[in-house]
Amino acid sequence: MQNVPEWLARLNQPQCDAVMTTEGPVLMLAGAGTGKTSALTHRLAHIVRERRAWPSEILCVTFTNKAAREMRERVGKLSGGALEGMPWLGTFHSIGAKMLRRHAELVNLKSNYTIIDTDDQLRLLKTLVRENEIDEKRWPPRQLAGLLDNWKNRGLNPDDLTAVDKESYANGKGQEMYRLYQARLISLNACDFGDLLLHMLNIFRKHRDVLEQYQQRFKYVLVDEYQDTNAVQYLWLRLIAQKRKNICVVGDDDQSIYSWRGAEVANILRFEKDFPGAKVVKLEQNYRSTPQILAAASGLIQSNSQRLGKTLWTDLPAGDKVRIVGVWDGPEEARRVGEDIERLESEGAPLEQVAILVRAQYQTREFEDRFIQIGLSYRIVGGFRFYERSEIRDAMAYLRVIAQPADDLAFERIYNQPKRGLGAKTLEKMYQHARRQRLPLAAAALDLADTDELPARARNTTADLMRLFVQWREMAEAVTPSDLLRAVLEDSGYDAMLKADRSPEAAGRAENLVELQRAMEDYETLGDFLEHVALVMDNDAASDEEKVTIMTMHAAKGLEFDNVFLPGWEEGVFPSQRSLDEGGLASLEEERRLAYVAITRARRRCTILHAANRRIYGQWTSSIPSRFVEELPEEFIASETTMTGGRSLWQANWSESEDPFAHVSQSRPDRSQQRGPGWQRALATGYETKQTRVKENSRSAASFAANPRVDIALGDRVFHEKFGYGEVISQEGNKLEIEFEKAGTKRVIDSFVTLA
Ligand code: ATP
Ligand code: MG
Repeated sequence: MQNVPEWLARLNQPQCDAVMTTEGPVLMLAGAGTGKTSALTHRLAHIVRERRAWPSEILCVTFTNKAAREMRERVGKLSGGALEGMPWLGTFHSIGAKMLRRHAELVNLKSNYTIIDTDDQLRLLKTLVRENEIDEKRWPPRQLAGLLDNWKNRGLNPDDLTAVDKESYANGKGQEMYRLYQARLISLNACDFGDLLLHMLNIFRKHRDVLEQYQQRFKYVLVDEYQDTNAVQYLWLRLIAQKRKNICVVGDDDQSIYSWRGAEVANILRFEKDFPGAKVVKLEQNYRSTPQILAAASGLIQSNSQRLGKTLWTDLPAGDKVRIVGVWDGPEEARRVGEDIERLESEGAPLEQVAILVRAQYQTREFEDRFIQIGLSYRIVGGFRFYERSEIRDAMAYLRVIAQPADDLAFERIYNQPKRGLGAKTLEKMYQHARRQRLPLAAAALDLADTDELPARARNTTADLMRLFVQWREMAEAVTPSDLLRAVLEDSGYDAMLKADRSPEAAGRAENLVELQRAMEDYETLGDFLEHVALVMDNDAASDEEKVTIMTMHAAKGLEFDNVFLPGWEEGVFPSQRSLDEGGLASLEEERRLAYVAITRARRRCTILHAANRRIYGQWTSSIPSRFVEELPEEFIASETTMTGGRSLWQANWSESEDPFAHVSQSRPDRSQQRGPGWQRALATGYETKQTRVKENSRSAASFAANPRVDIALGDRVFHEKFGYGEVISQEGNKLEIEFEKAGTKRVIDSFVTLA
């Protein structure tokens, strides 16, 4: 071992080994927070400082652009300013794009080619699908987009597709569509994200001289988050590093969370085969988290069967236990997190060091709404803010036209969304008429639908649409905003469009729309709700302000925060319903790895929350805590329940004599027998365990009747935060009908009233 220079003294021995062993393949395989990324950064700086290579002779791949920026900055500091640019430091995409510019002509592109985004891609695919007379409804272009992505991630060109791949779209037309799509892209001088690496891989394979040029150039190759590389990335890297073999990859098999995007954890496991004689460095000391957080995460991941297994320890001082907080419902969850953050802030904790990590994008809504209310600055990372997402904007546009027929922008957004065959020409006609008659666009459309100005088809379609608007406007007077939205989504064909869409994003969009309906349930009138959203959208606080970060667990990989909140740990939310429906052990284990990633983001405090009830489509869903909660080792967690009304559904109904597993559905893991009392309690709710939906006013509401607030009786005088004082006139489960002194008769949830 060489002498360790002073600037590396902060690193531990194995980290130093990884830094100083510059020659030959190195695999750094270690758990979260053990300093893998730090070691990689130092290694890069070391190579530069020692002048073993010029920065331009090093290839360094990070998982996100942000990580690349950070690394660039740190290497600059560590290498004492010896860094003259680092042209090949970035994500696979950014490096691939840069390389392809230099060799574009080899795949018949020009060097100024454009990279199309997913929207452009979809538009292009739609055209192609139509041109080829494929039934769009049966074979949605989105599905083809998903397949293309999958094929490209696997490094497959049209000729490489397997029989199964070929059959997977439009009765065997997939391969032909792939070919046509590629040809069309070339004619547009464009490529998609998947092409950035696939084109380069093809070039390397066909043009040995180009490959050799890069093999020669890159004296050192470094890769972070290697466990999440997909096949095409792997093949591309392997070709480049094959000659010199100075490749250092770092990763953690327990943090492989992108298999749904084609990542293959096997890549890290076969590294030693690909590069025989690789030095394997294991890091075991965690520098990030308190012993409690570390032990909780390590205990959880032990439930996975498919892992290499590793030891982690820390000598950081003891901290708080991981808190498990049970709340009544979603709004209370958001309220509780908001309060906790305000307390942290008052104790001097910087908001930059607070993160809320969610499983699914739709979960951000409740927090956004709450934070706006209490004036807490937040930022959504790696995704749009809830009300900015395209499907939410579409739905809002419908609602805006209903509430305000003169809202031309809103009308323009949805007159042909979902597609109903109204094109630009129809829109132009409408605009003309509107301008001339000084009418709102929607009124112009209505007018036009009564004339021969539009061709018959467009006219009929427009008439149908306008009839719907009349209908919806009437409904708006009679039903709740959320029921109105449900009708709009159904009548307009929006729901059907999403259902037909088999791409992975479609499910997320549908979830977001359900969440929008949930948000609307808190509002009496459509106007109130629209105003609320306008205010939320306006909340673009100064960017230099300290902010709480809200992001998905996936996006949080590699990051760390002093305080981490993990809401929604309920079966069906996390693990996600999709992973449960797929049912395979593999998908459940990937969810568990995600849980491990999430917990290990926390440096000092980690709070996990689960709600007893979620509202979906105006129906109460009684949820049970995530199995991951039960899998956390008891000695490192502290549970608390802070429910409005004092208890959860299952607590109210628990009785020792019941068979706690009577309601365990088949899909439950067989390990349920080993669960602690909390889990058993949850299962013994008297409901079916799997996302029982108890519909208001329906027969099944009777099952709710078992859990009313026992302190409230008919005739009681109560106080409701919104409607004031009133008398209870009927009680059905947790729903009360109350004759309010001012607001009239309303149906409310019992947890929102107090005895007066
Ligand atoms: P993840 O698996 O989450 O990506 P990682 O293994 O890449 O984690 P790092 O992010 O590099 O870990 O390091 C975690 C934290 O530990 C960082 O705050 C880093 O500054 C600190 N750290 C790393 N190495 C040391 C060390 N030798 N001494 C003290 N602190 C260290
Ligand atoms: Mg890292």
